[in-house]
Amino acid sequence: MKIEASFVTSATGAGDFPRGGLAEIALVGRSNVGKSSLINALVRQRLARTSAAPGKTRLANVYRLARGNAPPFHLVDLPGYGFSTGGSAGFDELTSAVFARTPAALLLVDVRHPGLESDRGAWEWVSGAAAAAAVVATKIDKLARGERIRAMRQHESVFDASVLPVSAVTGEGLEELWNLIDSLVNRRNRNSRPSRSSPLPPRPTARSPEPPPKGPTRPQLHRKK
Ligand code: GDP
Repeated sequence: MKIEASFVTSATGAGDFPRGGLAEIALVGRSNVGKSSLINALVRQRLARTSAAPGKTRLANVYRLARGNAPPFHLVDLPGYGFSTGGSAGFDELTSAVFARTPAALLLVDVRHPGLESDRGAWEWVSGAAAAAAVVATKIDKLARGERIRAMRQHESVFDASVLPVSAVTGEGLEELWNLIDSLVNRRNRNSRPSRSSPLPPRPTARSPEPPPKGPTRPQLHRKK
């Protein structure tokens, strides 16, 4: 499937975000969790810069992505928390500006480190602030089979949600991640469709409902009530 990806802007505050109303998906995670590598693996090109100095930049990089015939969306890559910023201090003005736009969000955690305090804090924040959120465990290739199962169980118990395992190196889980992204974008687009312009209910169409994402795990989405 064809993937289109382009850099839109680096935002430092609320005024810098693109207008136009595309669905937004915020990517949140500790510095060095593998966020840039995952973005590049998803779009199969070197779009995001992998971090030489973790935690230095306080910019949210916005990318416009589209896969196949799916509607385009903005991926908002937030600066990593941890290291220099220290735990929940990562949730600063910039993060608040991003979440004021009620994006969907993906929290990235390193599969090798279940239960980190900073990740728990981030999930509490993200699952409360985002329109819908899910957890993705990165670097799954670094663990052997048995260790994976144990680590994934621990992650799911910490977050009380299903967690999607991925690897930017082997490509494992990337198709499932795209399916998850598609479902987040579709839900957002359904919810934001104007209803006042037409008093009539939408006409039924011949299209069947979306199939559920394929794969061994189906990440649970946390929806804001
Ligand atoms: P970021 O700070 O979250 O953007 O993290 P990076 O994408 O820069 O990755 C941090 C380090 O982890 C780099 O050395 C990457 O090569 C490595 N890395 C990232 N993703 C993976 C992965 O899926 N598997 C393995 N084995 N290494 C990874």
